Amino acid sequence: MSDCLFCRIVAGEIPASVVRESPTTLAFRDIAPQAPTHVLVIPKRHHADISSLAAADPAVAADVLREAHAVAVDESVAGSGYRLIFNTGPDAGQAVAHAHAHVLGGRALGALG
Ligand code: AMP
Repeated sequence: MSDCLFCRIVAGEIPASVVRESPTTLAFRDIAPQAPTHVLVIPKRHHADISSLAAADPAVAADVLREAHAVAVDESVAGSGYRLIFNTGPDAGQAVAHAHAHVLGGRALGALG
């Protein structure tokens, strides 16, 4: 989708700090990090949110999870622990309507809510 921010990052039209790439996914640093490690993992093809992706292409949803863990390993936070967040819809504050996992780690993240 030409008007989707993350599709434009996949297309190389907007720069991003890419940390991993697979045939189906891209991982890049969040522009406003909330933790020492804050990476977004997205499917290259457009899906509005993680539930739409899981319904339409569960294999790619699994790729996103696998790549999210690989990011945690690369960033040396897999052992200390990390959090995956999939904001979905307005109450969750989803700002970008392209499925994405937030990979957060590198400090004690505290309780949710
Ligand atoms: P969400 O609120 O779950 O939709 O998260 C969207 C995330 O995208 C936010 O954490 C933003 O900081 C991040 N973001 C927005 N624009 C960019 C960008 N150009 N490059 C990297 N991250 C971005």
